Amino acid sequence: CGIVGYIGKRDAYPIILKGLKRLEYRGYDSAGIALFDGKDIQLCKTKGKVATLEEKAKNEMSLVGNLGIGHTRWATHGVPNDVNSHPHYSNSGDLVIIHNGIIENYDTLKKELINRGYTFKSDTDTEVLVNLIEDIQKNQKLKLGKAVQIALNQVVGAYAIALFDRKKPDEIVVAKLGSPLAIGIGEDEFFVASDASPFIEFTNNAIYLEDEEMAIIRLGRDVKIRKIKDDKVV
Ligand code: GLU
Repeated sequence: CGIVGYIGKRDAYPIILKGLKRLEYRGYDSAGIALFDGKDIQLCKTKGKVATLEEKAKNEMSLVGNLGIGHTRWATHGVPNDVNSHPHYSNSGDLVIIHNGIIENYDTLKKELINRGYTFKSDTDTEVLVNLIEDIQKNQKLKLGKAVQIALNQVVGAYAIALFDRKKPDEIVVAKLGSPLAIGIGEDEFFVASDASPFIEFTNNAIYLEDEEMAIIRLGRDVKIRKIKDDKVV
C-alpha cells in the first residue's frame, strides 16, 4: 500500500501516477487519485492495478490540477472494490483523504458520527476518520491542522494519512503513526510519499516524519511539523 501527494506549480497527475507505480512493490489491491485545480475536485478510483486506474483516469478526468493525492490500497476494512478504494470524501465534499493503516476503534467512532447525522458510502475505517475530522473542524471552528490533530488523538490504530480541504487550495496535511511518510521539499513545491522514490528526481531535500508526528504543508511557507500529542495550537 502506498501514498503520494503533490502541491506546487506542476501538473500533479503525472507525478502522482508515476509515484504510484514506484510504490507498487509495497503490495495493493486497488488504486485511486484526487486532483484539485483550486476550484473543482476530481476523483478516480478502481479495484485493480495502477495501469487500470490510468486507463480509467484518461476517460473520466481532465487530468488538470496542481494539487493531487494518490493511493494504493491494501484492504483491511471493507472488501477491495471501487467504492472502498481511496481517496474518500467527507460528507460535505470539502475534505479528501488517503490513508494507509488501520483505525481500530472505527466502529465506536462511526456509531457516534451516525448519531450526529453522518452517512457513509464505503465500509472503510478511513471514511470514518475523514468525517471525524470534518465534525471536529465544523463544531469547534478549527483550522484543518488542529482538527486533524484532535481527531488523531481520538484514534486507536496505525496510519499514514494525507488530506486536503477544498477551502484551502494551497495546503496538504499529513500525519504518521506506524506507516511510513516522507515529505519532499522543492522550490515552491512539496511532495509527500510512503518513501522518497516518487520524488527523488525533483528534490534531495526530504523529511521523514517520526511516529506521532504530523505536518502542515502550505505553499509559500515552511513545513510545520507538530507532535500529534502536543497541546500546542497548530
Ligand atoms: N484501512 C484502510 C482500508 O481498508 C487502508 C488500508 C491500506 O493500508 O491501504 O481502506
